[in-house]
This record gives sequence, C-alpha cells and structure tokens, in this order.
Amino acid sequence: MNKNSLKVDIVVVGGGIAGLAAGALAASNNASVLVLEAHQLGGRARSVNRDGFIFNLGAHALYQGGMAMQILHSLGIYPRGTPPPLKRYRALIGQELHKMPTTPANLLTSTALGFRAKIRLVRALSSIDQLSADQFFERSAGSWIANLGLPEEAESILRAICRLSSYVGELDEVSADVIVSQLQIGRRGVLYLHDGWRQLVEALSFLVPYRVGCGVEKLLPTRDHIEVHTQSQVFAAKAVIVATGIPSATGLLLNNSSFTSSGSDVTAACLGVGVSHVPEPGYVLDIDKPLYATTQLTQANQSPTDRAVVEVVRYGARSAKLDRQALEAHLCFAGVNASDIVTSRFLPAMTVAGVLPTPSSGGLAGRRSVYESGIPGVFLAGDWIGPKGWLADAALASAQEASNAALAWSAHQSLSRSIHLTAQKTTSDSTDGYPEESI
Ligand SMILES: Cc1cc2nc3c(=O)[nH]c(=O)nc-3n(C[C@H](O)[C@H](O)[C@H](O)COP(=O)(O)OP(=O)(O)OC[C@H]3O[C@@H](n4cnc5c(N)ncnc54)[C@H](O)[C@@H]3O)c2cc1C
Repeated sequence: MNKNSLKVDIVVVGGGIAGLAAGALAASNNASVLVLEAHQLGGRARSVNRDGFIFNLGAHALYQGGMAMQILHSLGIYPRGTPPPLKRYRALIGQELHKMPTTPANLLTSTALGFRAKIRLVRALSSIDQLSADQFFERSAGSWIANLGLPEEAESILRAICRLSSYVGELDEVSADVIVSQLQIGRRGVLYLHDGWRQLVEALSFLVPYRVGCGVEKLLPTRDHIEVHTQSQVFAAKAVIVATGIPSATGLLLNNSSFTSSGSDVTAACLGVGVSHVPEPGYVLDIDKPLYATTQLTQANQSPTDRAVVEVVRYGARSAKLDRQALEAHLCFAGVNASDIVTSRFLPAMTVAGVLPTPSSGGLAGRRSVYESGIPGVFLAGDWIGPKGWLADAALASAQEASNAALAWSAHQSLSRSIHLTAQKTTSDSTDGYPEESI
C-alpha cells in the first residue's frame, strides 16, 4: 500500500444524490466513508439561485410513493414540499386550453374530451393499480396504450399523462413497465421541494464526509484493497461505489468501453424563467406535443413573494434552436409573456436518465446491476442501475443496494485480513519461523 494513501472502508465516487445516499447509508452502518465529487455536490439534483429565483436543473418533482422517499425516511430525512395544484392544470389541444382531467371535478367539467371518452379514460386509469408492472417489459408503452382500445381523444390524453409521469417522450420505444409503474406511484402524488432539490443535497451531505473538486481519475485494485486515484491523492478503500451519473463517465473511470453501448439516454430540453407575477394558468400539458409548463409555487420558497419560477420542458431534446422556440411558444400558453421575464436559464440537452429501458433491453429489470462493474469490490449506483424504480427512485434504490454490497464486501475484507494476520501470527508463534511438518 502506498504509504501516503488515506485508508477508508468505502470510497464513493460521485456526489450526486445516488453517491450521497449510498455514502450516508454506509456511514449509518458505522463504516468509514468518503464521497469524492469532481465538481459541485448534488449533480443533476443541484439548484441554483439567480436573482432570488431558485432553479432546479429542469422541473423536478419528488414522488411521494417512490423508493427515494422511503430511503430518505430511513435516513431520518423528511423532505419539505408542496404538491402542485392539480385543479389548475390545463390541457393544450391545438391552440386551445381545456381543463386537464387531473381531479374528479376537472374531469366532469373538462371540454378536452367527450363523455364516453371520459368514462373509458377513468376505467383505464383505475385499472392500472391492479397491474403487475414488471409483466409489461416485453412491449413498448406505445403498444400497451394502443391495446387499451381507447377513443382517440382519451388515448392522446393518456399519452400526455404518461410523458408527464415518466419524463419520457419516446413512448413507442420505452418499455411499458416503466410507464405502468410510474402511473402507479404517481397516484400518491408528488412534492415540489421547498428551496428546490438542494434541500435533499444539503440534508444528505450532513450525513457523510465528502470532498468537492476531487475528480477520481482511476481505480487500481490490489490484493487487499482498491486504490482510488485523484489528481493529488491516493485513497485505499476496502470497497468502492461508483455513482458517476451517466454510463459514459462510469465507462471512462472503469476503463471499460462496454458502458458506452449501454443504450440511448433519456433527454430533455429545459427552459426555466423567473417571472414578475404568478402566471395563470401556470400549468399546461400539451396533449399532442411532448411539452409541459409548470410553476414552482411561491410557497415552495423558490421565488420572491408574488413572483414565480416557471419551468418548461420538452421531453426528448432535439436541436437547441428548435427546442428553445417551442419552449418559448409554450410559455405563452402558461400565461408568461416576454415582458414578464426577470431572469431565465436554458438547458438544451439534459440527461434525465442514463439509459432508456426498452423491450429489447429487458425493461427496468434488464438494466445493469450494482455488481456489474467488472472489478471485484467495486459497485455501481445511479438512475440507470438496478432493477428497481425510475429517475431519482432508481438512483436511490441502487444506492441502497450498492451500499449494502459495499458494506458486506468491506466486512469480508476485514475478516479475511484478520484471519490472514492471525494465521501469520500463529505460524510465527508455533514454529519460530520454520515451516511445520505436515501430519
Ligand atoms: C431535467 C431533469 C428533470 C428531472 N426530473 C426528475 C423528477 O421530476 N423526479 C425524479 O425523481 N427525478 C428527476 N430527474 C432525475 C434525477 O435528477 C436524477 O435521477 C438524479 O439526480 C441522478 O443522480 P445521480 O447521483 O445518479 O447522478 P448525477 O446527479 O449525475 O451525479 C453524478 C455525479 O458524479 C460526479 N462525477 C462524475 N464523474 C466523476 C469522477 N470521475 N470523480 C468524481 N465525481 C464524478 C458528477 O460531477 C456528478 O456530480 C430529472 C433529471 C433531469 C436532468
């Protein structure tokens, strides 16, 4: 072992919410842990303050019924947030706004679809809870929706709801298990987090030691530990968790080109604006195009009083120019005009999830497991890892599994080392350094 290397039970590479949660979970089991982050803590869950408006990196909502919430609770973190006001949601059909059938009252009075289509849509949505999502991985969400045989107007609304609950625009490509499970957990609602998602990042960062500006360049496995090399230091870890966010960054670190062919990622173009008033209607889902506008309420502390942060998203990024035009046009339907905008931030191509599960890749369960790093003692975590959950739920579910695996590995390493040392001691005590005769 390098004399100057710092010994730790578990090093976590990457300080996004997967890495921080993995580290916090391991630390809560009395392991010595260090999270190393190349840039700033939080990764894609960071929030930035611009002129008093707090922007997440694109519209973010935490699913109340998802695994992330359960795991945060297990760490003693109870996220503070507000559910978006579903009755204010509007459906954009062509150039016209209608009430979005997001609440029973909206459904009854909505002009977005006729009576028969309403009944069929309600029946389809209420039967989803009885489905076993994992049985739908072999077909695309598009074909699953088409097979429901809904009237066209109800089908278009269902497709828009599916995009909204999953952040996926490519419904004809994504496996249906992703969508069915998201519709199921979506029933419990979402929270817009007070102060943005930095609330989660801050809460997690209190539970585990970390270093920022500390990019890991390589991992070198030795006989009894793994050397973790940054530009200026070497750490000796019994186990390592790699939570570097996207497959290409993981492949680069592990020097393994198979990660680059993990499949296509899920992208979005995001325009966030700080506006001088709370817009009406503020929440608009385009039924025919993959566009959505949402307002982060002033109660969510994301903007000064009587002002608001409005986020517009295109599910599936194309060219920056084309997407920006589409997002700006959609803002007008949400009630925001150019003269209302105090500040703005455009993210042309965000990676929402590292890998798009498809029927041919085996759906959610076909994603790479936490154990498939290719290096013993090195485990993976992220929103494209493991069989459970989607988006932040997958990031934290895999973080939990990777943390358990790293703890078990690290305990095994300690045990092997103490057996080895005891054996060495016994040998030297009993033989004065000479080999014993075998019986
Ligand atoms: C626009 C958008 C909207 C979203 N909306 C939602 C939503 O509504 N609900 C939801 O549940 N999820 C949502 N998500 C997904 C959620 O943000 C991600 O799943 C989650 O933040 C991923 O966390 P992570 O830690 O796996 O990866 P990341 O956040 O990408 O973190 C990886 C970290 O690793 C660091 N790193 C990389 N390489 C190295 C290295 N060699 N050494 C050290 N550090 C390294 C990076 O700097 C980064 O900080 C959204 C994502 C986007 C982009």
